[in-house]
Amino acid sequence: MRLLLVEDEERLLDSLVFQLEQEGFSVDACRDGEEALYYIQQNLYDLILLDRMLPLLDGTEVLKTMRRSHNSTPVILITALGTLDDKVTGLDLGADDYLVKPFAFEELMARIRCVARRPRRLAPEGTLSFRDITCSIEDSTLAGPGGSCSMSRRERDLMEIFLRNPGQTLSRPLLLTRVWGMDSDVEEGNLDNYIHFLRRRLKTVESSVSIRTVRGIGYRMEA
Ligand code: CA
Repeated sequence: MRLLLVEDEERLLDSLVFQLEQEGFSVDACRDGEEALYYIQQNLYDLILLDRMLPLLDGTEVLKTMRRSHNSTPVILITALGTLDDKVTGLDLGADDYLVKPFAFEELMARIRCVARRPRRLAPEGTLSFRDITCSIEDSTLAGPGGSCSMSRRERDLMEIFLRNPGQTLSRPLLLTRVWGMDSDVEEGNLDNYIHFLRRRLKTVESSVSIRTVRGIGYRMEA
């Protein structure tokens, strides 16, 4: 699992990075909100641990900006502010969970497991576009130069991940976890079937966009 940790308290940051890596996570760390947004735009994470009070750009602003640009990566907000109002604000802004400092590392691990197990509820509204295709998330339709067609929910979830990360090679485990959830016992071959379905959809709408197989890794959407 690839994780972004945003925390400006140096000692806490170092200790969390160390412990998370011990648990087998691949961790990127940053110390302010602007750096965090840059990392979030450049990379694909399975989870983001986001401190609320940060230099340059507040954690809630980072979260707001992410969700506005339809980035649905799970976020656990970490903060010293533990009042009910703060929790509600954080969750309303699109945080998946909330952790109050100081916390035991075991509690953080439990929250991470819990959030990672949840199948992603992908953004229900809006449309996503890449080159000559537009996908309406709300009604699961795909439109291209040759018309439009509707997709099943899984097809749409998978299409959405590709559209949010065009040109990026997405690994098979990442796609399986995002679409089917971490604990699901979905067969690997199922993913190939769904890729096949999506390729057929792209052909139906006469798009020049394709989903390429990256041998030994996964898939990539490109024009
Ligand atoms: Ca802080």
